[in-house]
Amino acid sequence: MIKIHLENEDEICEKHYLSCKDAILGRIEPKLDDSDISDFHNLLNFIKQKLEEILTKKPDGLATIHNDFVRQFGSIVKPKKDNIQTYNLIDEILNYTSFSSKATNSTKWDAYKLAEAVNVSVCPYCNRLYTNTVTKDEKKIVRPDFDHFFPKSLYPLFQMSFYNLIPSCTICNSRLKGNRHVNPNELHNYVHPYLSGFGEDGRFTYKDIAKDKTHAISSKWNLRIEITNKKKQKLDDCKLQIKNNCAMFKIEEIYQMHTDVVADMIDRCHKYNDIYVDFLKSFDSLGLSKSEIYKIAFGNYYNSKDFQKRPLSKLTRDIYDELLG
Ligand SMILES: [Zn+2]
Repeated sequence: MIKIHLENEDEICEKHYLSCKDAILGRIEPKLDDSDISDFHNLLNFIKQKLEEILTKKPDGLATIHNDFVRQFGSIVKPKKDNIQTYNLIDEILNYTSFSSKATNSTKWDAYKLAEAVNVSVCPYCNRLYTNTVTKDEKKIVRPDFDHFFPKSLYPLFQMSFYNLIPSCTICNSRLKGNRHVNPNELHNYVHPYLSGFGEDGRFTYKDIAKDKTHAISSKWNLRIEITNKKKQKLDDCKLQIKNNCAMFKIEEIYQMHTDVVADMIDRCHKYNDIYVDFLKSFDSLGLSKSEIYKIAFGNYYNSKDFQKRPLSKLTRDIYDELLG
């Protein structure tokens, strides 16, 4: 799990709000005129007055809005299946369905435009699959999913909130996370990719699991990839938010598919150590930085702010630090 780094995050967030505002207000006004049910009338006013906050507040700020909402409309804030009328009203007003539709006019701010602006190339949850946005001649070809960090079915109010729309791969979004309940008041129990990544608190490491130790450790069959904390203790001893995200996205289980990458790195750093160190030293004379040499050697990015550019960048960097760092 990696942090999303956007150089112009505030600017994109503001653009998202300004581009969505008029359409949402345009859907609220006629309903305000029509609505004679006081709860619905107040609900529409709540969204109207707090629209900027709803769309732009950082993840922890969304908890405050959620709690305000529950205080005022507690009786009608329920999962979709329990209160379809309220859910449908909020859904119709904020209308993520239209925003995410491929058919939306290509000049309009929509999920494609947002994905292009955010420009995260790899899923921040798994750091395995590309999530690039591709358009050609204004035709929409492919874009990342947007995972609703606080599920849309339970928190429809945040269906269009910038910090609740996480560009992600379909496997993480639909197959693994689905509608798992992350409550805004329990944000501290999870890693939110706009706030942090696993960093040093959740490092990839490897273990030799071969029964017959005469075999080379660097066979992918002899390796198990694990997540540990700073003290190299197992996942069970990691911070709660790391454990929760690992459980949600099955990180340890899925990373066993990538033991070949670790095996290759061990080969390069141990088996061919002398040749390899000479090879790396040959770049010293060119005045390249550590991160530039690392990129040439491992084909990946060394700095954590660049992890979102290429798959398996955190795995590669953590293993490198363990082997040679
Ligand atoms: Zn993913």
